[in-house]
Amino acid sequence: MINLQPMAPDPVPLSKSRYLNGLQCHKQLWWRVHEPDAPELALTPGQQNLFAQGRDVGARARDYVPGGELIDLPSHEYDNKVAATREALTRDVPALYEAWFLADDTYVGVDILERTSRGYKVIEVKASNSRKPEHLPDVAVQVHVARRAGLRVEQAEVMHLNGACRHPDLSNLFVREDVTPLVETALIGVGDQLAAQRQMLAGPLPEVAIGEHCTKPHDCPFISRCWPKLPDHHVSSLYRIDRRRAVELEANGYATIYDLPTDLELSAVHARQVKAIQTGQMVVEPSLKGALAPFVSPLAYLDFETVSLAIPRWPGCRPWQQVPVQFSVHLEEPGKGLSHRQWIADGPDDPRPALAEALVEACAGARKVVAYYASFERECVKQLREAVPSLAKDLERIERRLVDLLPTIRNHVYHPDFGGAFSIKRTLPALVPGLSYSDLKVQDGEVATVELQRLMLEGANTRAVERVALREDLLRYCERDTWAMVKLLETLRSLAVDQLELF
Ligand code: SF4
Repeated sequence: MINLQPMAPDPVPLSKSRYLNGLQCHKQLWWRVHEPDAPELALTPGQQNLFAQGRDVGARARDYVPGGELIDLPSHEYDNKVAATREALTRDVPALYEAWFLADDTYVGVDILERTSRGYKVIEVKASNSRKPEHLPDVAVQVHVARRAGLRVEQAEVMHLNGACRHPDLSNLFVREDVTPLVETALIGVGDQLAAQRQMLAGPLPEVAIGEHCTKPHDCPFISRCWPKLPDHHVSSLYRIDRRRAVELEANGYATIYDLPTDLELSAVHARQVKAIQTGQMVVEPSLKGALAPFVSPLAYLDFETVSLAIPRWPGCRPWQQVPVQFSVHLEEPGKGLSHRQWIADGPDDPRPALAEALVEACAGARKVVAYYASFERECVKQLREAVPSLAKDLERIERRLVDLLPTIRNHVYHPDFGGAFSIKRTLPALVPGLSYSDLKVQDGEVATVELQRLMLEGANTRAVERVALREDLLRYCERDTWAMVKLLETLRSLAVDQLELF
């Protein structure tokens, strides 16, 4: 007999990461499952780097729970990993690494499963320096599935990096936090949520209103699909405006900066921004000339690039410390014009002693050292002082001489093209037309960080010709940052003169 009943679709299997996506938003999960090749899901270099470092941290964590057995199978062989785990559990090993379980049509991988006196402890390894609220549902779904698969899970832990750890003593690289009571509470509703997600995935794209969940706990990759395109100069583009304040202004009928009434109470920066947008003209305050007074020649324009490693490699470094590994300096000397110095690391050794020496030499004779967002450069120089005590005095001199171009612009100038931000990527093309980063292969700091790490730590796996090109791209990027400052200061000086001539 022929069965004419429509066949029920196969249930879409869930996984830990899918469950967590669905917890944030069902619509996001639906797109991730039904459009796995969506362009929005392509990982940025920064995300790839975070994942790679996360994998290193996961592998390193096993050394701190020793004697275990690794379920070492290709990542996509879920059923084989579940079977291998089941088999390994019959042996008397103190721990399993990458143990896999299946229950409720959901696969979960457990970073470390440690045997306890009467059962097991689920340990979730995190590459962050602290435990975060979103780690609890992550552990809870593992415990739920492992228990449903028949495992006696007694305890749960989050094992995260320790911000107090300093190389070379990595004995305290991790902090292990018992989260058993918190996870027992977080377990309530996990089964229902898994069922709801499976049911939702079998149907059409669900309707979900946009809201705070679109950026919490992570930025949703589909924001541009769901959120309406805002008009130019929307009130939310007011410099660093609080989200609630922007919503309030919009609710009062002021959708764009053009709509704002003249009697609205505004901060000085906002007032300048509103004036520039409403008149379509750059606003330059008469106070600019005074603000430029500290920028006295000879000037060194300084920019650092850094790497940030989850597992510290060099003396005194902590997890994720931003370590300076490259600099560019343009030196402006009266009567001599401009000269350029630069330094870049390209091996795995501690770069700071050689970098510090080159930096002291490059800034010698400078009366002031110009930076853009100088607190970053200050932090780098401070770090160099600690790492290279023999140059501490010279480095302290550089630190004392730092002057910041960013607040000079923010507090005295607004161009309608700034778009509510004062990063150099915004101010440069507006104030120095024709000069930007668009002609460079490396165009932002995130990519620079990733590529510097590749140059330094994976050099042996990179072809020589590729290394040379990579080095060149990085040098050009850092050089552009200091050249941008040279041109910005030049523009600001001429704006200040024009201003005076107006009065
Ligand atoms: S943008 Fe918001 S509503 Fe749209 S899928 Fe993402 S989280 Fe869901």
